[in-house]
Amino acid sequence: MSWILIVMKSSKTYLSPWPLTEQAWQSGHLGHALIVEGTASKAYELAVALCRQLVCEDGGDIACRCRSCSGEMTKHPDVMRLEPEKDRIRREALQMIFQNITRPPLWSPRLVIWIEQAHRLTEAAQNYLLKNLEEPPAYVVFLLTTDQSHGLLATVKSRCQLLRSEPDWEDDGSDFDPYRFFAEKELTRDQIIRFSYWVRSQYRHRQSPSWLALWEASYRAYEHVNANGAQELVKELLRDAFDHARS
Ligand SMILES: [Zn+2]
Repeated sequence: MSWILIVMKSSKTYLSPWPLTEQAWQSGHLGHALIVEGTASKAYELAVALCRQLVCEDGGDIACRCRSCSGEMTKHPDVMRLEPEKDRIRREALQMIFQNITRPPLWSPRLVIWIEQAHRLTEAAQNYLLKNLEEPPAYVVFLLTTDQSHGLLATVKSRCQLLRSEPDWEDDGSDFDPYRFFAEKELTRDQIIRFSYWVRSQYRHRQSPSWLALWEASYRAYEHVNANGAQELVKELLRDAFDHARS
């Protein structure tokens, strides 16, 4: 089950994903291993917002001013953050972190292990992570941020939920022509992003599950193109969802 979180551009509306994450937690739909994908700055913003909700000491309300919510997430005692060193995150660095997760969180209901630029994990580190993703203590939440989720092993991705921030694009898709889009020989990333924006605007008007499914399909298509996947597959993926949404 994947969730799409929307990060708005201005800081005023930034917290709009909050009710969705809260809902997801309440219904048990948010797992203990999350990949947050977006441009580096968006993924960071979203990770901070998620961390805050995860470590809140008083139910995670948007207006909460508890000790955890008032402080900086990067300095929180229950947020362990790991960044690349010389463009890599090695197994040894992960091991150091994992030695500390057997102790329960100090302030919060959860202990967050936040791995920044997770695509920089070496293969050995990813395999090590994989083992530890299987049965972590119940209070542990893994938060992997990346702008290149295709750099993660499929086995790691399959154990995580993928959360995406919206691509940063000023376009509302209003003058988009889906028929011309489907007539293109090769679909580029930018074209798929524009398509995705158009679908988003359609979804906002129509609010139907099939348009949401198409929106999700556009993200999958984007990922596929990013990973240099076959164009026929991308089109097939979108075409089916598109026909379904229009019917
Ligand atoms: Zn709080």
